[in-house]
Amino acid sequence: MTFSSDKVDVAIIGGGPAGLTAAFELIKRPEFQDGTKTAVVFESTDVVGGISQTAERDGWRFDIGGHRFFTKVKPVDELWDEILGTEDFMLRPRMSRIYYRGKKFDYPLKAMNALKGWG
Ligand SMILES: Cc1cc2nc3c(=O)[nH]c(=O)nc-3n(C[C@H](O)[C@H](O)[C@H](O)COP(=O)(O)OP(=O)(O)OC[C@H]3O[C@@H](n4cnc5c(N)ncnc54)[C@H](O)[C@@H]3O)c2cc1C
Repeated sequence: MTFSSDKVDVAIIGGGPAGLTAAFELIKRPEFQDGTKTAVVFESTDVVGGISQTAERDGWRFDIGGHRFFTKVKPVDELWDEILGTEDFMLRPRMSRIYYRGKKFDYPLKAMNALKGWG
């Protein structure tokens, strides 16, 4: 897609989670609200979401990787609640493993588990 404008104050490269979050935070600022400043997200593909996107094929929807939100950072938690609302969040118990050279490692990695597995 081509884009034409005399002036863009902020160019955000990439419409993955980082770029979209940057844009989301930026447009809350008064100068972007009143149109004094402008921001544009440039995405090289025709889908936003980056490697967190849900891809669609033949009517089926696939997550490129199973994604879940997990953070210990309060501002990040608050941002997700702001975007999705507490009602749209599904809380799920989680257990992930990385299968590497015939062994399963806890994900996120835990020091003892990783050391024992690697020897
Ligand atoms: C299998 C898998 C499972 C994962 N599970 C989780 C999870 O459970 N929880 C979690 O928090 N994270 C998870 N992640 C990590 C998460 O997907 C990434 O951390 C996140 O997508 C990174 O976001 P990003 O915006 O930095 O980059 P990306 O998602 O890579 O997005 C970058 C975007 O920029 C675009 N782009 C690149 N170059 C240009 C250019 N020159 N011009 C214009 N556009 C460009 C790309 O097309 C893309 O859309 C997982 C990742 C994978 C692969």
